[in-house]
Amino acid sequence: MSTKDYLEKDYYKVLGVAKTASQEEIKKSYRKLARKYHPDANKGDADAEERFKEVSEAYDVLSDEKRRKEYDSVRSMPGGFRGQQGGGFGFDLGDLFGQGGTGTQPGGAGERIGDLFGGLFGRGTGTRTTGTTRRARRGADVETEVTLSFGRAMNGVTVPIKLTSEAACDACRGTGAKAGTVPRVCPNCEGTGHETRNLGNFGFQEPCKECRGRGLVVDDPCPICHGSGRATGTRTIQARIPAGVADGQKIRLKGKGAPGENGGPAGDLYVNIKVRPHAVFGRSGDNLTLTIPVTFPEAALGADIRVPTFQGQPVTLKLPEGTPNGRKFRVKGRGATRRDGTKGDLLVTVDVHVPQKLDEQSREALAKLREAGGGEDLRADVLQKARQE
Ligand SMILES: [Zn+2]
Ligand SMILES: [Zn+2]
Repeated sequence: MSTKDYLEKDYYKVLGVAKTASQEEIKKSYRKLARKYHPDANKGDADAEERFKEVSEAYDVLSDEKRRKEYDSVRSMPGGFRGQQGGGFGFDLGDLFGQGGTGTQPGGAGERIGDLFGGLFGRGTGTRTTGTTRRARRGADVETEVTLSFGRAMNGVTVPIKLTSEAACDACRGTGAKAGTVPRVCPNCEGTGHETRNLGNFGFQEPCKECRGRGLVVDDPCPICHGSGRATGTRTIQARIPAGVADGQKIRLKGKGAPGENGGPAGDLYVNIKVRPHAVFGRSGDNLTLTIPVTFPEAALGADIRVPTFQGQPVTLKLPEGTPNGRKFRVKGRGATRRDGTKGDLLVTVDVHVPQKLDEQSREALAKLREAGGGEDLRADVLQKARQE
């Protein structure tokens, strides 16, 4: 039986009986009306035929205790399903339940019905939201991960991020019931979503097995969400990743999370940044790091050496005479971009190389250096101090 039928048709009125009518009264009235409007007695009378159908339909529902109960429950749901005479609601149920009707007036009864279903289906705790107020709710925060090349992390980039999130199924508006139908109140738990199991003197409350705690059962499931009422929505957002982000950093993009409900603000999107390492440059906070090999003579005698900068022209670094291995030099302003737009530095570490292959000339030169004593006895101090207890 469709929602529209349940909501629009007053079966009691059709049969001319009171809501409290007994089965006997219903049957009696039906027989009388069926005889009156029977097609055999009203050949070619379309109105009578229509009435006959209505009466039969009404009797089908009201004569069946179970279906009558469902019908009563649906019609007693809050939200003014039947509208009010002169109240000017004028909402279209087809629209509400996805049949593409003519639209709902904002703030009218229609929205309250949507809200009601939202409450009923949202949590699965069996708590029924019977109120008609629309509560604004902030959307959930969403977390995702983005891997960037070193350069993109340095320069900042706008990346498309595909997000999947659970939302109410569009086709059934989250009810789980096929468009044009409504779920019925679960007969097992009578809509409470839980049932009490008796074990001796103890009563245990547990989620209703019939409706799995929803309080409602769907006879005709929505083909899109298979009755779950939920849809996995995919949306792509353009996330602006600021210049200078580092590996492991988490970026908060305000309002890019899940959309809010009932006019509530959207949640935030947290983006975990992964940065692929660079072949030469590293990161240390706002600074870039670089290890540069120098020869022993360059370190000993001092030299002007060419040092690359990230995405810039090489700079000349002045090594003073007697530069030790591992000394760090700072090239100002050639690091990563800070949040305030200023830049960190490039930290250059000197790596003094011992020559692996020597030509004759170099060998002789080094031999001369050795004979000259190199200026100092390196190990005397160590040997001396090694004797200490
Ligand atoms: Zn149930
Ligand atoms: Zn659905």
